[in-house]
Amino acid sequence: MANVLIVDDSETVRTQLRKDLSHAGHTTFEAGNGLEGLKVLDDSAVKIDLIFCDVNMPEMDGLTMCRELHSNPLLNKIPIFMLTTQTSSEMKAEGKASGVIAWVIKPYERNKVMGGVAKVLARTAGA
Ligand SMILES: [Mg+2]
Repeated sequence: MANVLIVDDSETVRTQLRKDLSHAGHTTFEAGNGLEGLKVLDDSAVKIDLIFCDVNMPEMDGLTMCRELHSNPLLNKIPIFMLTTQTSSEMKAEGKASGVIAWVIKPYERNKVMGGVAKVLARTAGA
């Protein structure tokens, strides 16, 4: 089972994801914006295996956080699921260039997203 970081300024979204991920057996960590997310990732005591990240957040938005991660050789292998209401293809392309492997539109379909998480984790576990 994995350590999953949820970065979203909406407590409602964080709570829903926390429920779904813990139900699937994962341990969750939470942050309310990109800066807080980077702080969790900087904590060497915690190894994050996968990240859920919102786009629109105060302090630091999700795409900026992904760019920061992408330029950090210690953190740029962590798979990122973007979870957002944004559908712009420019944003999607920007995310993809910064390590985003899945772009999920809110509200998300639980079975589909948790299936995607399981698939990605199975792939990275052997790497
Ligand atoms: Mg938001």
